[in-house]
Amino acid sequence: MISSIPKWVGNLFEDTLRPNVKIIASSYLSPQMKLIRFQGDISNMSFRIGYANVIRVSETEFRNYTVAYYDSKNGVLDIIFHIHRKGVGSLYIDSLDVNDELYISPPRGKKLFSPDIKQQVFFGDETSIGLACSALPTLKRNKHQYRFLFELEDENRNVPLLLGLENVTVFSKKDTFRNDKWVSDLSIFKTGDWKDASFVLTGNVKSVQTFRKVLKDKTTGKIRAQGYWLEGKKGL
Ligand SMILES: Cc1cc2nc3c(=O)[nH]c(=O)nc-3n(C[C@H](O)[C@H](O)[C@H](O)COP(=O)(O)OP(=O)(O)OC[C@H]3O[C@@H](n4cnc5c(N)ncnc54)[C@H](O)[C@@H]3O)c2cc1C
Repeated sequence: MISSIPKWVGNLFEDTLRPNVKIIASSYLSPQMKLIRFQGDISNMSFRIGYANVIRVSETEFRNYTVAYYDSKNGVLDIIFHIHRKGVGSLYIDSLDVNDELYISPPRGKKLFSPDIKQQVFFGDETSIGLACSALPTLKRNKHQYRFLFELEDENRNVPLLLGLENVTVFSKKDTFRNDKWVSDLSIFKTGDWKDASFVLTGNVKSVQTFRKVLKDKTTGKIRAQGYWLEGKKGL
């Protein structure tokens, strides 16, 4: 996925990449988590669980974000941003306010959801909360058994509940999902019920890799993994 383009390419596509949505509401769910509601013509957008939209965060830089909620009739969509303040995207989103206008691409990407599987486990971090929100109505409607496992900074641990997510377990980021042994001892592996579940792993690349490795040994379930960011790497 391209995260930056040369300036001359940006100039060439300036018409296509010009602002297509306006911010109509914005709030902080914690000092590091920002929920923004955009409005615009989203009639050409086709949303799927696991898809992401690219936001133009500077003249030449683009970053991926997941639509947590949308209402095509009223041209409205919500995105939940992790404001980690270490990159151009995060700083740009932090600076945005009501009435600001920006460019958001149509969604595209990986289909992470397997609706035919009864048990569904979603693992991730702050960057995965939007994905969980986008999946929740479908999980409820289809009467899936589901669990959300999040590794979060302490200051963000109440955010899933604030957003109305259910069946949530929050873990600290300290010394947890980087440790195979610790992951193998998770309670989800202690009963046979979740052996054949669908596991959707997103968020920090290293945590996703560790969890995936353990799952491969411990379950016969379907594993779909997509790292959303990697320490030290710009614009995954
Ligand atoms: C398919 C997909 C869907 C995504 N959905 C969302 C979403 O809904 N909400 C969301 O907030 N993010 C989401 N992300 C993650 C987001 O695109 C990345 O976090 C992106 O790197 C942020 O860009 P940046 O310019 O702020 O930082 P970059 O310029 O990319 O990186 C600068 C530095 O910040 C670090 N960094 C990047 N992200 C984080 C982070 N989350 N926490 C701590 N350090 C970080 C990098 O390791 C690097 O050292 C998604 C990513 C993908 C691939």
